[in-house]
Amino acid sequence: MKYITRFAPSPTGNLHIGHVYSASLAAKIARESGGKFLLRMEDIDAGRCRLEFEEAIYEDLAWLGLKWEQPVRRQSEHMEDYAALLSKLSDRGLIYPCFCTRREIAAEIARSKSAPHDAQSLIYPGTCRDLSTAEKQRRYEKGDPYALRLDMVNALAAAGQSELTFLERDKGYIRCYPASFGDVILARKDTPTSYHLAVTFDDAIQGINLVVRGQDLFTSTHIHRLLQALLELPTPAYFHHGLISDTKGRRLSKRDKDATIKSLRDYGYQPEEVLKMACYG
Ligand code: GLU
Repeated sequence: MKYITRFAPSPTGNLHIGHVYSASLAAKIARESGGKFLLRMEDIDAGRCRLEFEEAIYEDLAWLGLKWEQPVRRQSEHMEDYAALLSKLSDRGLIYPCFCTRREIAAEIARSKSAPHDAQSLIYPGTCRDLSTAEKQRRYEKGDPYALRLDMVNALAAAGQSELTFLERDKGYIRCYPASFGDVILARKDTPTSYHLAVTFDDAIQGINLVVRGQDLFTSTHIHRLLQALLELPTPAYFHHGLISDTKGRRLSKRDKDATIKSLRDYGYQPEEVLKMACYG
């Protein structure tokens, strides 16, 4: 099997050692199978993504000796495609606008006596699910900001499959439970896509057959699998790898300046040393 893998960073900061692990693993799997390694810029968040970070990503990856196919797909250049997908879902009655602020959602959850006080409590309680057409119109005309949410109950019915699964490398088939995430956000008033919609579409359009990414995105795969069923897109295999932690056992993030490739380069480390650090980190 020739694997088509990808590395899909968001250019919102400098790459760190955890990214190196993910990218070099995806590149290695593709190379060893005679497949292809692709790079994608997940730059839909215009407020947080910066061209200088994108350029730094190319520079860091090239410095590490990684080679990727051209051209690089930049999500910001495909907003019309995402908008078209969104209208498809909307035409089927699977999307609704939600005008709630975070504060209103938290208050609604707190009001509900049955709300458990754990991660479940983050699930959107469905306040705007049944707004009347007139009310929606009134809010649109007022210019209120809104998110576009997937109506999970309708979506599961429309997907028409009693059981959704995906293949996890080395583990076998995993059953999906998208309903446990509630009515997830698929777009916002001024941005026709969220991470979930764009990543699902792009992996399909780029022909990715093995998605290599961190364990932190494992739960998102349940949502992506549902979107694949709804949009009749192929389901790749997945490899959710472990995450690299710092010396205190905390997950590395873009805030950990010392672990960025840029600072390691500035300290005088060589590419092979950084690759080794990433693999044994
Ligand atoms: N853009 C995401 C990130 O930088 C990764 C998306 C993915 O690999 O699916 O965390």
